[in-house]
Amino acid sequence: MDFSTRAIHVGQAADPTTGATIVPVYQTSTYTQTAVGEHKGFDYSRTVNPTRVALEQQLASLEEAEFGSAFSSGMAATAAVLNLLSSGDHAIVTDDLYGGTYRLFTKVLTRYGLEFTYVDMSDLAAVRAAIKPNTKLFWIETPTNPLLKLVDIAAIAKMKTAGQVVVVDNTFASPYFQAPLALGADVVVHSTTKYIGGHSDVVGGAALTSNKELHESIKFHQNAVGGVPGPMDAWLTMRGAKTLAIRMREHESNAKAVAAFLEGRDDVARVFYPGLESHPQHELAKKQMRGFGGMVSFTLRGPESRALEFAKHTKLFSLAESLGGVESLLCHPARMTHGSIPKEERERRGITDGLLRLSVGIEGIEDLIGDLTHALDTTVSLAKT
Ligand SMILES: *Cc1c(COP(=O)(O)O)cnc(C)c1O
Repeated sequence: MDFSTRAIHVGQAADPTTGATIVPVYQTSTYTQTAVGEHKGFDYSRTVNPTRVALEQQLASLEEAEFGSAFSSGMAATAAVLNLLSSGDHAIVTDDLYGGTYRLFTKVLTRYGLEFTYVDMSDLAAVRAAIKPNTKLFWIETPTNPLLKLVDIAAIAKMKTAGQVVVVDNTFASPYFQAPLALGADVVVHSTTKYIGGHSDVVGGAALTSNKELHESIKFHQNAVGGVPGPMDAWLTMRGAKTLAIRMREHESNAKAVAAFLEGRDDVARVFYPGLESHPQHELAKKQMRGFGGMVSFTLRGPESRALEFAKHTKLFSLAESLGGVESLLCHPARMTHGSIPKEERERRGITDGLLRLSVGIEGIEDLIGDLTHALDTTVSLAKT
């Protein structure tokens, strides 16, 4: 079945009790049993809820996975997947990484005896060199946030030995543009808050896999720890995901135009977008992805203060954290999403104070380019200071 057909139909058969065409919001915490232990597979909503089950089946299908688990946030999904590890285990992690994931790993999980090594995973030799006898997990983000570097998922999946798990945070590409499981990854994690939900109105996460043992462990921890979404949030996420394909096509078409426009401006120093031929890993992007996505980062010519000034002058691009909604957003990673990474460490990774990140929405492209032109022109005098 086509991607869009799966998004609209998988897990979403008409409701068996009423015939409701749309999966109902099962706003219930518990289920009446006919005799002790006799029920329809539903006993308590932390463990299982029909609205959440529908979402889990829909998302698993979009990631070409057999099993899915939905969570209350992307971070809850990440934490549940890290529950696969035990004290003394080691993980190799993409260095250009979502700030909240970095915070969870460095400030929380190291206290439980887990060890992390941050590596520029676009450098495969560096990944290989980081492997230790206790390495159990590879945590990949690609394209990375905010520098949009690529990691070769298939190459890292080939590097893995028995007992190691390759996890890909596929939030930036979305399942429409990248299928990590088909490339050899074991688990895909999403912040469904972003493209999958798509309307900036609900926080959620998911973990998808075709490995039964891994799925059972993730499910066990989903229930044991309890980071589950409520039925209304599951329903909103499912509704958003129905239109993922058409939204992603528009995001990409607009992002390509924005990247080309920025690259053509003399007062822009550098543009980061995997769809540009100037991107150092454009060939890998063409091989590994089915499209280049809707995220564009860039640095302006001029001092860092110009980036902060620029951020005051866009009207359609709202200055806000998050990404992946229908509306365009602008963010200053060093002070916003990546503020929890120490400055020295940030700069070492290339997240300079002059870097700006765009989540290109699906508004009319002429309006978006007009908005950027206005903010660039308004601050262009600073480019020469
Ligand atoms: C937002 C985000 C997360 C965290 O997800 P939440 O839903 O905010 O908890 C994880 N990874 C990436 C790449 C993200 O953009």
